[in-house]
Amino acid sequence: MKKVVFTIDLEEFDTPLDHGIKIDLEEQLKVSTEGMLRLKDFFDTNKIPATIFCTGQYAIRNKQLMKDLAACHEIGSHTMYHGSFDPKIDLVKSREVLSKITGQQILGFRMPRMANVQARDILEAGFAYSASINPTFIPGRYNNLNKPKFPFREDGLLQIPATVSPLIRFPLFWLSFKNLPLCLYQIFANNSLNYYETINLYFHPWEFADLSSYEKIPKFIRKISGKDLLLKLSNFTDWLRTKNVIFTTFEKVYLNYD
Ligand SMILES: [Zn+2]
Repeated sequence: MKKVVFTIDLEEFDTPLDHGIKIDLEEQLKVSTEGMLRLKDFFDTNKIPATIFCTGQYAIRNKQLMKDLAACHEIGSHTMYHGSFDPKIDLVKSREVLSKITGQQILGFRMPRMANVQARDILEAGFAYSASINPTFIPGRYNNLNKPKFPFREDGLLQIPATVSPLIRFPLFWLSFKNLPLCLYQIFANNSLNYYETINLYFHPWEFADLSSYEKIPKFIRKISGKDLLLKLSNFTDWLRTKNVIFTTFEKVYLNYD
């Protein structure tokens, strides 16, 4: 049976800072929550479980929402803060903070911006897997064309790469979903489902907030947001159902939890 894992990076909405736009922490959290509530409603209605990587900072400020999400979804770590990272402190601290708030054992880790973190550090901090590799080439960010496309072990840590198309390694990540016509994205998704059996896709809650007022953010990031993006996601999941896929979480697919 083919499987799809939706992964969500629940973080402070700090994208404007990358583009020289001031935004305070309160607003960053507010925008993310607006989108997360919209996504949660969609997942609840459609009975879709997801793997949600959350920053410790966001979880501390939104404890009840995290408890509610943990009832239906797998919670993983997206470090303590989206904008700064100390591997000696933030890996363990984020795991402990998230575990305490949600009551879940926190097994998964994803590094903000898919940046490189030593596998050994992640394992030693108590995580079972990392989903922080996008095995493709993103100009200005990373070149992972030499990394495996399928899950693999590195220094004992399970590495689960983001899904890229089988041949040209076209990334099926959030920017592709937003910018490609859905029919074209579905061709890549279909090829990937046939090749891998299990695919994973990643989004951010803030994409599902209304971003129309953030005019200085480049269009390829905010071109479709809020309800319009959710409608596209809804059409996509309807199409996935015609392929008889199971929606599931990393924990269930790769760690034999049920
Ligand atoms: Zn992130």
